[in-house]
Amino acid sequence: MTIRPILLWPDPRLSQVCTPAEDDVSVLIDDMFETMYAAPGRGLAAPQLGVMQRIFVMDELWKTGTPTPMVFINPEITAVSNELITNQEGCLSIPGVLLDIARPLEVTLGWTDLDGAVRSQTFGGFAAACVQHELDHLNGKTTFDRLSPAMRSEKLAEYAS
Ligand SMILES: [Zn+2]
Repeated sequence: MTIRPILLWPDPRLSQVCTPAEDDVSVLIDDMFETMYAAPGRGLAAPQLGVMQRIFVMDELWKTGTPTPMVFINPEITAVSNELITNQEGCLSIPGVLLDIARPLEVTLGWTDLDGAVRSQTFGGFAAACVQHELDHLNGKTTFDRLSPAMRSEKLAEYAS
């Protein structure tokens, strides 16, 4: 396993829409976990490593001593709750910045796992925000893109300084 460099915003690859995952991604996924744990983070999307494929990994609980690694290949949102919740979100590609982002409280995702099985699950709490954040990366969106224009300008100025 190899720790790969994480792209930092505004690398243009962080604004590109990713294409469906290729067939042999096991080495990539090993490296994604290694890189995520070293960062340290709880979610990482392939485009953050410059790999423009629709894959992300998440481990919600490893920081509390209970590793729960999950691999999401070609994930899609199939349902969202009407209720929104605002969380402070960080991003490994935007170090040192926490942004208040409103997202659906619950989200149902369909995806393929590492064994090729089709999965579906409804997420709440931290995991709901995390999977939506990582899915945004696959669509070329970062947390900056979730802000109002005025707030975006203010936060971009802070990030640049
Ligand atoms: Zn991120």
